[in-house]
Amino acid sequence: MIDKKREKPHALCVMESLSIRGALSSKERLYYSHLVKGYEGEYFFDVLVEKTLKEYILLCDLVFKVNGTIFQIDSLVVTNNKLYVYEVKNYEGEYQMNQSSLIRCAVGTEVLNPLIQLQRSTILFKQLLAQMNIKTPLESYIVYINQNFTLYQAGPHPQIILYSQLSTHFKSITESSKPLNEGCLSMSKLITSKNIGDSPYQDLPDYGYKTLKKGIYCPECFTFFNQLKGRMCICSKCGYRETAYANVHRHVMEFNKMLPDIRPSTKTIFDWCNGMHSMYRIRSVLRNEQTIE
Ligand SMILES: [Zn+2]
Repeated sequence: MIDKKREKPHALCVMESLSIRGALSSKERLYYSHLVKGYEGEYFFDVLVEKTLKEYILLCDLVFKVNGTIFQIDSLVVTNNKLYVYEVKNYEGEYQMNQSSLIRCAVGTEVLNPLIQLQRSTILFKQLLAQMNIKTPLESYIVYINQNFTLYQAGPHPQIILYSQLSTHFKSITESSKPLNEGCLSMSKLITSKNIGDSPYQDLPDYGYKTLKKGIYCPECFTFFNQLKGRMCICSKCGYRETAYANVHRHVMEFNKMLPDIRPSTKTIFDWCNGMHSMYRIRSVLRNEQTIE
């Protein structure tokens, strides 16, 4: 079961909105596509865990602070006898692994070897577990989730799992774990209680209210709506449907995420939606959200 679901990270939400409402530079577009790819890989991993494992608790996207140092865990699987930490990478193509880096063969670009990041987070997580008096053994892995990923290296590494090795790995967990008990549930709750939420160190471009394009858009294909059909919003490109109320709600949520320092008044949201919704409708959504004075 999943006890802490994965949510779209704050940085990804903001970059997505900026890509729709603003002009991203080519460097920022690349960063945005990295975030999308990373999120898709992690999400796919969650799906595989859910489909394959039996007696487990999955905790997604945890950020902890231990002794003043912040670190992140993509996925933590809790079983009756072990904890499994996973750092999920959605790299695609052929890579050569060195001690400190991975080199993309086609272009020669280098990224930090994820094993270094994994070792750091494992050490910090063990310290956190010790503080909570949790003595359950821990294993940690890098998962290369993309089927089109090839890694050239000296030989198999005990902490690296390629997509083709995942089913064997999950099978060995299933065979070695027993049914969950109360202790597993309370341990998961205790671990989750230490989660501090989104990492404060996020690299986002500068932007402001004035420079963002106003309007309402489809959450599936990001096309701007240019008319409403009664109380429904129907995307002219992909056919996505939602009620006008849900549409206002979604764009208020987006506004709050993008511009947390500006109060979402009826007038501001009217302007944010480019006049596509009536002031009456916006007021009623905001009242229900209790974000209006
Ligand atoms: Zn659409």
